[in-house]
Amino acid sequence: MAKEKIKSTGTCKYCGSIRMVNAAAEMTQTELDAIASEECDCEMAKKERNKEEQKEIATANIKLLIGEKHPKAAEGLTQMIPFIQEFAFTELTVKLNEVSKVQMKMNERGSIIISKTDTIKDTVGE
Ligand SMILES: [Zn+2]
Repeated sequence: MAKEKIKSTGTCKYCGSIRMVNAAAEMTQTELDAIASEECDCEMAKKERNKEEQKEIATANIKLLIGEKHPKAAEGLTQMIPFIQEFAFTELTVKLNEVSKVQMKMNERGSIIISKTDTIKDTVGE
């Protein structure tokens, strides 16, 4: 059975403007406010949406780069994305093993760049 859609209002948590939202009948005001915040056109809401998008892209890139061979490391790195976004640090390097490392950083244009470096190491006489 399709849920009944009703028109209701929610308040954007960023700018406080009240917006009409398409809501299911049983939604709480908190949920309505969350939808209003997501759909609002104010600068803060847009910024938040960009952040979400940025996080999705970075998550996909991490998966693409190391997801198959290093799923646990990929998971850990993914969890660190918000810290980069909040500028808790600007760069993070993780050593995957003796020869491979993966680096995540925010570039000048505000994009999160993920890169992997494999070093060829020749050691003699160890
Ligand atoms: Zn707003």
